[in-house]
Amino acid sequence: MYEIVDEYKHSESSDKKNKIFKSLCSAIWTSDNKRRTYIKTIKFVIRKDLLNTEIGQIFNVWSEVEYMGYKAMSKETDWCSLIRQKINNLYTRYFDKDVILNKDYLYLLNTPRRLYYQWLDGVEMDPNELTRIIDDSIDNSIRLKTQYQKQKMELSWNNYKKMIEEFLQKILNNCKLIEDYEDKTRLNSIYDFMNEDNFYVSYFCKSLEGEMLKWQKKYYDIRDHKKYKRCITCGKLFEMKTFNQKRCIICQKKYNRINKTEKQKKYRVEKLKS
Ligand SMILES: [Zn+2]
Repeated sequence: MYEIVDEYKHSESSDKKNKIFKSLCSAIWTSDNKRRTYIKTIKFVIRKDLLNTEIGQIFNVWSEVEYMGYKAMSKETDWCSLIRQKINNLYTRYFDKDVILNKDYLYLLNTPRRLYYQWLDGVEMDPNELTRIIDDSIDNSIRLKTQYQKQKMELSWNNYKKMIEEFLQKILNNCKLIEDYEDKTRLNSIYDFMNEDNFYVSYFCKSLEGEMLKWQKKYYDIRDHKKYKRCITCGKLFEMKTFNQKRCIICQKKYNRINKTEKQKKYRVEKLKS
């Protein structure tokens, strides 16, 4: 990585620069560290002597709960695998609607397993109550998943690659050489613990993350220096106009309209009663 940046920075012609940039991109895209998603399972095994009890039977139905996971780390530690891993993870986080790994969602999916171990620990349970709690938490997990899916943006992998190349070009152009930093004492102390490659890998990964955030704001038409929030209804980001605004303008309008008709209905019904 150090050689690439160094060569790029010291190249005079734009042709040469372009060649270096192209080979950087092709190394990243041909990396064996591909993006992978796979089904994960929250599992537990019901103790044999409990399997034929009413409670044991209820738990047995939920002894394997599936959800979609992804390969989040790279075994290889060369610069190319590491940067590619970052690129893969950003796609999963911002665009892949199948992979929802928010803590509250996983907590709900984990309910049967958690309750099973509580039961083993001697917590008394009523079969009807247990069924209700598990059903509720699974229902809520589905609702929560839909909500988190709405928070993801739309972009195909191919268009994402184009976007990432634009980011990489910008990052490479803005990247300073280590020696340009070296007289700054603050950086020197960090630099002591790193080799040159690590320095550039972490610079590129951090910058990719920053570019992604900027792109997300553009995607939702958020202007610079404006405060923004996520709409609780549609999941999109919106510029805040008032302090405790919860919805974007479109959802707020719909919400007001429904609320108004509800109120009118109520009013009419009450009028009829009197
Ligand atoms: Zn909205």
